[in-house]
Amino acid sequence: MITGASRGIGGSVAAALAHSGAAVALLGRDEPALAAAAAGLVAAGCQAQHFRADVADVSSIETAFEQVAQSLGRIDILINNAGIEQVCASLDVTEALWDQIVGTNLKGAFFAAQAAGRRMSSGGSIVNMCSLTSEVGVAGAAAYGASKSGLAGLTRALATEWAARGIRVNGIGPGYFRTALTESFYRDEQWQDSMLSKIPLGRFGVLDDLCGATVFLCSDAAAYITGQILYIDGGYLAAL
Ligand code: NDP
Repeated sequence: MITGASRGIGGSVAAALAHSGAAVALLGRDEPALAAAAAGLVAAGCQAQHFRADVADVSSIETAFEQVAQSLGRIDILINNAGIEQVCASLDVTEALWDQIVGTNLKGAFFAAQAAGRRMSSGGSIVNMCSLTSEVGVAGAAAYGASKSGLAGLTRALATEWAARGIRVNGIGPGYFRTALTESFYRDEQWQDSMLSKIPLGRFGVLDDLCGATVFLCSDAAAYITGQILYIDGGYLAAL
């Protein structure tokens, strides 16, 4: 199961998992986009279905997980990828904006993990899409940074609590990737130059850069890895 699989990072890692042999369930709010993504995978010979789910709504998560469990039989992998961001000076953050961002990125991830955990009777793998803001402060990203730092803490807590049940919980921390979420930054050439100067590998990430690591963390090759956040950032954090 991949949340936020209609586009961007979620769409890309869903395709990578499907091409690696997983029967994938694509979750999100945009049904036409999800249906198109699933149809593309099926046309390529993969097993894929789509399910409507708003991760900010716990009852919607529960409904979708029940549908997936009935349709696919069992759940082995959850990629908690759905996420939103809205840059906002902390003095202007409203309760509604805070709830929207933290409710999607952190509360949504927890309740999706809980719904998966309840159904992973013979172990499984959960991967949480974290962020550089899980580690470092970024101005204008108080709610987002709090949600992603919380997601890193959640990763470690669940890894510890569910290890005995054979459920591994890890995180991936993407650096800078051009998607709908981040598009507005990339329109600013000065921002691009400034960011590139801080990335030792000298380029922004492309979606393929995240796929191998995600498939790896979900595979038996990662059988002894849990509670870790793997940052895929071209060396950004290492150079700070
Ligand atoms: P996109 O905006 O391209 O994709 C976000 C996905 O999440 C969409 O499929 C969207 O679908 C879905 N989504 C948003 N809100 C909800 C919701 N309430 N319920 C279900 N699905 C939802 O962003 P990215 O691909 O860039 O981001 C994916 C993840 O990676 C996010 O968690 C983000 O924080 C993280 N990340 C991204 C980075 C980057 O550089 N791009 C860097 C670090 C982390 P829809 O709106 O149709 O439901």
